Amino acid sequence: MRVADSVTAELAAPARPRVVVIGSGFGGLFAARAMRRMPVDVTVLAKTSHHLFQPLLYQVATGILSPGEIAPTTREVLARQRNAEVLLGEVVDIDLAARTVTASTRGEEHVHGYDHLIVAAGAAQSWFGHDEFAVHAPGMKSIDDALELRGRIYGAFELAELAAVEGRTDEVPGLMTFVVVGAGPTGVEMAGQLVELSKRTLARDFRHIDPTDARVILLDASPHVLGAFAEGLQERSRRALQRLGIDVRLDARVIDVDATGLVVQETDGRHTRIEAATKVWAAGVQASSLAAVLARQVGVDVDRSGRIPVQPDLTLPGRPEVHVVGDMASLDHLPGVAQVAIQGARHSVAQIRHSMAGEATGAPFHYHDKGSMATISRFSAIAQIGPLRLTGFVAWVMWLAVHLFYIIGFKSRVTTLLDWAVGFIGRGRSERTVTEQQIFARLALEQAGPHFVREVSSGQWEGPTESPAAPEQPASAAPEQPATAAPEPPRAAQA
Ligand SMILES: Cc1cc2nc3c(=O)[nH]c(=O)nc-3n(C[C@H](O)[C@H](O)[C@H](O)COP(=O)(O)OP(=O)(O)OC[C@H]3O[C@@H](n4cnc5c(N)ncnc54)[C@H](O)[C@@H]3O)c2cc1C
Repeated sequence: MRVADSVTAELAAPARPRVVVIGSGFGGLFAARAMRRMPVDVTVLAKTSHHLFQPLLYQVATGILSPGEIAPTTREVLARQRNAEVLLGEVVDIDLAARTVTASTRGEEHVHGYDHLIVAAGAAQSWFGHDEFAVHAPGMKSIDDALELRGRIYGAFELAELAAVEGRTDEVPGLMTFVVVGAGPTGVEMAGQLVELSKRTLARDFRHIDPTDARVILLDASPHVLGAFAEGLQERSRRALQRLGIDVRLDARVIDVDATGLVVQETDGRHTRIEAATKVWAAGVQASSLAAVLARQVGVDVDRSGRIPVQPDLTLPGRPEVHVVGDMASLDHLPGVAQVAIQGARHSVAQIRHSMAGEATGAPFHYHDKGSMATISRFSAIAQIGPLRLTGFVAWVMWLAVHLFYIIGFKSRVTTLLDWAVGFIGRGRSERTVTEQQIFARLALEQAGPHFVREVSSGQWEGPTESPAAPEQPASAAPEQPATAAPEPPRAAQA
């Protein structure tokens, strides 16, 4: 273990307070940026080197956008902010008494001291206690997830074409059935895009299958589509999805998932099997395990989603120097949306500023709800802003403007706009490339285990015979078949 230079430097010349920010998502990045003019030294410590605009992940998965457009490197975003450094590392421990954060990078641990700490490590996908489903029904929380899904989706069409050529026609329907689990905004947007992909983008590209025959099924264990929206909007969305040809099945709980399909339990207890090579899990989140690390030290329990209850000012009990914001924090039933993280980050920075000025701190955080929106398909969305309810094209244009505004960086906004023009006005998609690495590498690495990763990254690995057995081919794009290819929280508008 190594104590980072920043700590030793501080010991030698105590100067400006050091603020460590964990995470480079909405909470972390906006906290760092809010401190750009403050006399502090900021360390942004995150396990990914990029900031991720999660709301558009489904567009990476379906080939509209490239990863770079929604995931600029944090280093580039903060390049001009002289008081901020960006370090890559997965935080594995936080010692509140010693005021240190321990992170691990490629198996090596490094420790960082802090005067103020902002924890914004977000949430991961939850399979509701069935993590084994993840192999066959990946979630959508990271660029890796989105690229893997892209491989599976486009790969399924490739395999269906091949099956048709070889006369294995019985395999075609399963390969061309896409099931999205979770009818929250992410699931709805994904289902809508799968229809557009099959009916518009791919319609003329195959010779032996008709991509427009693809089936898209949207499942949810609850009786609602877009449960966080007003009832009228839920109903209109359900009808709009059905008009698109999506098979919407509500009150349907997924109880088993395998390579070629899944099993759902209906409300009357019946079990129904759906043959589908491609499954997308968009149904649940679990807060970062760092919430539990903190909870143990301040003597509180995390909630069902693993979030840590915070004080009204977003600090931890008895620890005014530790702020927890975004998806990890539980306060007044606030939803897990970007605006809660952004506004929470700004509130925490304001508290740090007050404390440095010797002013009163502890002001409660008040969330300003700017509204919620979700797209259903090209030119169609719903928006709920205060008492205002919007649907159709107007809501879609508003969705477009809001998302464009919150994409980080001018360059990404321009290229995103171009890709949207290609995808929404034309039939094409700019990002249809799929590589084997996208499909298999992550699962293969997981299967090889942390020892393998550590050995390779430290140069100790000496080849296949020395390594753990080569990973079995994970079920994926060619879902093992013949081969390529807490409910989601309501979400607020970004504006
Ligand atoms: C597919 C999808 C679509 C969404 N759509 C919308 C939408 O339309 N509107 C909306 O308002 N919200 C939406 N959300 C929710 C929104 O993205 C989250 O509420 C928001 O990102 C929360 O911000 P955060 O900073 O708490 O966490 P995140 O943005 O998730 O950031 C967490 C950061 O912590 C880092 N990290 C995690 N663990 C560690 C660790 N141990 N050590 C170091 N770093 C760590 C991660 O690398 C990341 O940088 C969506 C979410 C998803 C997944």
